[in-house]
Amino acid sequence: MKNMADMENPVRFIGAGPGDPELITLKGRRALDEADLIIFAGSLVNPALLAGVQARIFDSAGMNLDEIIEVIARAHGRGERIVRLHTGDPAIYGAIREQMQRLDDLGISYAVIPGVSSALASAAALNVELTVPEVTQTVIFTRQSGRTPVPEAESLRRLAAIGGSMCIFLSVSMIEKVVAELTAGGYPEDTPIAVVEKATWPDQQVVRGTLFDIAAKVKASAIRKTAMILVGRALAEGKTAESKLYDAGFSHEYRRKA
Ligand code: SAH
Repeated sequence: MKNMADMENPVRFIGAGPGDPELITLKGRRALDEADLIIFAGSLVNPALLAGVQARIFDSAGMNLDEIIEVIARAHGRGERIVRLHTGDPAIYGAIREQMQRLDDLGISYAVIPGVSSALASAAALNVELTVPEVTQTVIFTRQSGRTPVPEAESLRRLAAIGGSMCIFLSVSMIEKVVAELTAGGYPEDTPIAVVEKATWPDQQVVRGTLFDIAAKVKASAIRKTAMILVGRALAEGKTAESKLYDAGFSHEYRRKA
């Protein structure tokens, strides 16, 4: 089924980044500018990214999977350059796999151009490192179960036993449940936690607290959705150990010790 013309013109799944139109990759930007058809996730992707593009534009918010694939397949049959634009990075809660499976069935090739996930944009908004030496070296991307179930072995309660940094997507509307699970799983009540709504957008909002008070602070704020929850000791203020990487007394492949 796959012919040369198809291989040269794959459907491009592109990470739009978290919101700020300057946080898309150069490759992603070029693909948008050269596209004939763009299907974007209108509920989350900043429409400013589409200003000035030549392509016909579809908003996937009101489309089901069948409709999305039909639009792609028809345009692909005409040899058009197609972009499927996802918020953040497409590999994280992007629902790209189901689209790829349908494209496989149709013999249509595709390629992914990654993007800046909102988890990382939120860490940037807080000026934090998620992997602090001697505090934690692990980052977990997860969510509270809601309409989409989470396997029991990956419940927040179970993950809390690991105790690293967590980036919790799609869950701010259930903040009380999130706090209850994390606390039951072993995070102390004074563990720092922050909620970043619309990271990198002009109306970005940040709420910081501890597991003890964050739920009340979020309820008192205007934050309702499109927010990232970051939690863990890595968010704590104060001095921590310095890494070996830049330690003057430590040599490695690229540097001799002083
Ligand atoms: N692929 C996306 C995530 C899509 S799921 C990514 O990599 O970021 C949608 C969830 O992502 C939202 O419920 C919210 O938790 C988070 N999110 C998306 N954009 C965000 C932003 N600008 N600021 C904070 N959280 C965001």
